[in-house]
Amino acid sequence: MPFVIYLERMEQESAKQYAYRILRRNILLLDMVPGEAIVEKDISTKLKLSRTPVREALLDLCRERLIEIYPQRGTRVALMDARLVDQGRFLRETVELALLELACKSFTQEQIAELEKNLDEQEHEAKKPDLISFFLKDNEFHRILFTACGKETVFDAIGFYFPHFTRERMLRLQMFNPDELLCDHRHILDAIKAGDCRTAKYHLSEHLDHVMCDQKLLKEGFPEYFIPKP
Ligand SMILES: [Zn+2]
Repeated sequence: MPFVIYLERMEQESAKQYAYRILRRNILLLDMVPGEAIVEKDISTKLKLSRTPVREALLDLCRERLIEIYPQRGTRVALMDARLVDQGRFLRETVELALLELACKSFTQEQIAELEKNLDEQEHEAKKPDLISFFLKDNEFHRILFTACGKETVFDAIGFYFPHFTRERMLRLQMFNPDELLCDHRHILDAIKAGDCRTAKYHLSEHLDHVMCDQKLLKEGFPEYFIPKP
């Protein structure tokens, strides 16, 4: 099992939080691949933790549908679920288009400045070969939009789908052009600044096409990682 301990335990971090953080990162970065068996005892040994916090972290990841626990048959990394990702995209597009109506009417100079700052950071991250930091800044851009419109808990609800988008992205990193995504963000912000909702919506739809993977291509390329069609 290629399990990577990316970072040491942080001060003030509980054993469960640490196990959760490391396991989740392994799953999102595909060090632990979909369908792979998880042995609680091995994880405990590697992280130098007792089994209880590891079990609790696994239960949390199960609730996020990133792992599956089968009584008697053991635990494994969840297979990718194309239907779940499609539904996440549907929710995201529906809600984010409505959000832009609000953003175009009521954005303040401070909120615009926060988005500008995020775009500068994205530009910096886009130059790095490891796109993970760029994707985090991308997610942050959208979170700022929701928060600025007073809809931060709506973003939390959509956040359920983000790790599932990330796993698909990691399968086909070469499909992504960070400059293209950055350009989408700039167009969206320019349209918000101009109060031009129609143009902002157009660029958001384009952006979701750019950011979401082609499910058919992924399933053809990596059939063993996906839930087979019923
Ligand atoms: Zn984005």
